[in-house]
Amino acid sequence: MSSSEWEAVIGLEVHAQLKTSSKLFSRESAQYGAEPNTQVNEVCAGMPGALPVINERAVEYAMVAGYALGCEVHLWSQFARKNYFYPDLPKGYQISQFKHPICTGGGVDYLLDGELKRCNLTRIHLEEDAGKNIHAPNGSLVDLNRAGVPLIEIVGEPELRSADEATAYLKELRNILRYLDVCDGNLEEGSFRCDANVSVRPRGQEAFGTRAELKNINSFRFIQRAIDYEIARQIDLLENGEQVVQETRLFNHDTGRTTSMRSKEEAHDYRYFPDPDLPPLVIAPEWSERVKAALPELPGQKRERYQRDLGLPAYDADVLTQARPVAEFFEAAVAAHDNPKGIANWVMNEVLREVDNPEEGLDALAFGPAQLAELVQMVDDKELTGKIAKAVFAKMVESGQAPTEIADAEGLRPIRDEGRLRALIADILANNPAQVEQFRGGKTKLMGFFIGQLMQQTRGKADPGLGRKLLMEELNSDNEDG
Ligand code: ADP
Ligand code: MG
Repeated sequence: MSSSEWEAVIGLEVHAQLKTSSKLFSRESAQYGAEPNTQVNEVCAGMPGALPVINERAVEYAMVAGYALGCEVHLWSQFARKNYFYPDLPKGYQISQFKHPICTGGGVDYLLDGELKRCNLTRIHLEEDAGKNIHAPNGSLVDLNRAGVPLIEIVGEPELRSADEATAYLKELRNILRYLDVCDGNLEEGSFRCDANVSVRPRGQEAFGTRAELKNINSFRFIQRAIDYEIARQIDLLENGEQVVQETRLFNHDTGRTTSMRSKEEAHDYRYFPDPDLPPLVIAPEWSERVKAALPELPGQKRERYQRDLGLPAYDADVLTQARPVAEFFEAAVAAHDNPKGIANWVMNEVLREVDNPEEGLDALAFGPAQLAELVQMVDDKELTGKIAKAVFAKMVESGQAPTEIADAEGLRPIRDEGRLRALIADILANNPAQVEQFRGGKTKLMGFFIGQLMQQTRGKADPGLGRKLLMEELNSDNEDG
């Protein structure tokens, strides 16, 4: 069989760290980056007798994510103990949700090469993170700062069919969580982590093949590479008459390969059972209604509205909504000057070039949306030529000054004085007799040459429409006279 006769099946499990200031079951700080073991209290350390108390904010964030992703949010859910032994888990169990998760169903609508696709979700549940083992040359160390940090696990249906789909889905999911402000989506710091389940099957076959679960992939590029490698590896095995083993595999960034970490035989029986220290999680209907009503407009909704109401091409709508601060900047500028396409062009081509990481906000820019709106308005009113507008923009980037002020201070307003333009044109015609003769002989495309001369004489400031009109008059009228 050739590789096109195989179909990949991918299902993703995403662990998203919720942006709460404290942990899921205690008031200990959940902030990232502190000195090891400085954010550990008796609850995170699993001291005997310490009791968990649920963090209300974390529950709210899980609800927010659930509603935004179209899930059914259950007003009654239950925490369960997932039992296993590992040094980074002092209690000997992780508090998670099992039989009764807070959310079920829902899905992510994402764009791939301009096509809208959907991957459904199985469930979203709340759970606490484990600590972290740090392997040093002289032994292994345990940092419990992360133990007890709130996570939601978002389990996707096995509906993705390529690494491209998986990556596009993840990017959209991450963007949605960032729009909601419930997760900062930092892959490197581990606040948005993904396990990829990958299997292959002969195209047309309904039954799924045996899957491998890939771990340790902390960038979109690595996710793409790990999945592609794994698909190729499995096809290779099957074509050689071998079997895919159900196992957990680790992606190695350096080699670009996945290697076996543990097989299914060593898989855990987690002996889940409801956590007796925690009552069922019961959400008041009014609370859930409040959360639902307060949801912000999501990237997909913005994309649609930008096309439908603002008349933007799909491409622009996509670029402008990839980070919420960019969408907000764009919308503020459009509110000040109603030319969405003009402003979209400036934001995409010029503004974004000045921002290192648009996701972190555009506040570092010296100017704001009002100044950009004013600039586009000046161009629309023919107060600035396109070329000069770029120069004004460059000054705006440096000083944050209003474009009208810059244009006045630097004498950049277009030259509309007919007498002055006619005098310049007369000089140009007198200095270029050969071109004038050719133009009059029918080589009208030389108009570009004359416009170029006029712009050179005025350093780009001649009003181009008026300049062209006057040039036409002079070139033609002399012809008739002569
Ligand atoms: P586990 O709890 O062992 O990880 P689940 O049944 O909960 O197993 O599935 C976890 C993830 O694996 C889900 O995202 C699901 O979509 C995906 N998945 C299940 N079966 C397959 C398969 N045959 N190929 C690829 N992905 C799969
Ligand atoms: Mg799994």
